Amino acid sequence: MTTAYRLLPSVERLLSDESIMLLIEEHSRPVVLEIVRQELDEARSSIKSGNAAPRQDEIIAAISERTESLTGDWPRHVINATGVVLHTNLGRSPLSEDAIRAMQRAAQGYSDLELDLLTGRRGSRQAHISSLVARVTGAEEALVVNNNASAVMLGLAAIANGKEVIVSRGEAVEIGGGFRVPDVLAQSGADLVEVGTTNRTYARDYEAAIGENTGALLVVHASNFRVMGFTHTPEIPELVEIGAQRGIPVLHDLGSGCLLDSARFGLMHEPMPQESASSGVGLSFFSGDKLLGGPQAGIIAGKKALVDVVARHPLARAMRIDKLSMAALGATLEHYIKGEALDKVPIWRIIAMTADDVKARADGWAREIAASAYPVKSRATIGGGSLPGESLPTWALAINCDDLLGGAEGVARRLREWHSPVLGRIEEGRVLLDARTVLPGEDDTLLQAVRHALQRQG
Ligand SMILES: *Cc1c(COP(=O)(O)O)cnc(C)c1O
Repeated sequence: MTTAYRLLPSVERLLSDESIMLLIEEHSRPVVLEIVRQELDEARSSIKSGNAAPRQDEIIAAISERTESLTGDWPRHVINATGVVLHTNLGRSPLSEDAIRAMQRAAQGYSDLELDLLTGRRGSRQAHISSLVARVTGAEEALVVNNNASAVMLGLAAIANGKEVIVSRGEAVEIGGGFRVPDVLAQSGADLVEVGTTNRTYARDYEAAIGENTGALLVVHASNFRVMGFTHTPEIPELVEIGAQRGIPVLHDLGSGCLLDSARFGLMHEPMPQESASSGVGLSFFSGDKLLGGPQAGIIAGKKALVDVVARHPLARAMRIDKLSMAALGATLEHYIKGEALDKVPIWRIIAMTADDVKARADGWAREIAASAYPVKSRATIGGGSLPGESLPTWALAINCDDLLGGAEGVARRLREWHSPVLGRIEEGRVLLDARTVLPGEDDTLLQAVRHALQRQG
């Protein structure tokens, strides 16, 4: 055993190896040195448990692999051929060119983020975005925080702490990991009063539950599930009217922040912040990076008096959004104001693509690849907690994997390991690459990855 230890190369010897020297050039000496030591430690403990000493070339290969996986660009750019438009694991919404430029401008130098250039006095980072949200949605005022989860939490804490909040039983639900309406209410210090039943709740149920200590009526959009069949939910204006009679605001968690009518694209109509505002809702809450198509953000839009209360709450400071996200959000909202969102906001371009356009793209890929790949008709989904069960007609490049090394799993893995990783989906032993969600300009890279992945047995 002691001889096995002596077979291990020394740190100095490894560091003077040519390929390790190249790693040092790229990733710096301290980074590589640490990995060399870790790798030698592992080799020693492997020997201790009775294994033979790894050869020097094996150790060097392991060091290279570990260095490449630990360092370098993060997050890495990937090509989304999954057919899921808003993929939470892939960072939800890609940004428009203008949003990226605004972000870069905010990052690169100093800015007037909280300064009024006219007076030279301190300004508010919220004022500009608030007026954009007001123009887009028709709400009186808005406040932006880190994400919609914090928006809802903050709104409830500011408006209903120590009070009762009335929620339909069908809406006291879990929306995505870690966001459970009853838990959020508890954390914000409000008491949940559930009314109605899981499938049917009427306006009169809310009315009957209103008491001395009611702070708000809360409506939560079912953004990641659907109740079918014998169901009833009151219209928002009905609730607003009931609330108004008793001086109680309606708070509306919309989830997605869908500013264009999704029904135009053959999808179910997703509730819109504009409708929420015109219904007289006190506060509505929505995400910046779902169907709004911008950066991660939580937008609280509504009546000025209520938004002002929220802005003064101590949690508002704790949930303050950073300047880069704000810059991107502002630029994204401008697209809606200018009426150019369908052309400029990437997720809307993806959703608005006709099935024929998608097919032409998949056909083009198939012509390039030939052999075991061919275009197939399929369905793309919205994902990311928006429009559950809804899908868009799409076309994908199907790769028949029967004769390929590792089958569909092997092909999918080789696509992921390409320098620009490509993510598809596996269906019936084939890998499908959806032509709808791949961004413009990514076609050549995708085709290179496919050629690389088409390794045959042997
Ligand atoms: C997505 C969603 C949230 C959470 O929003 P994030 O921006 O992910 O924090 C809250 N409520 C509803 C209804 C949602 O759909």
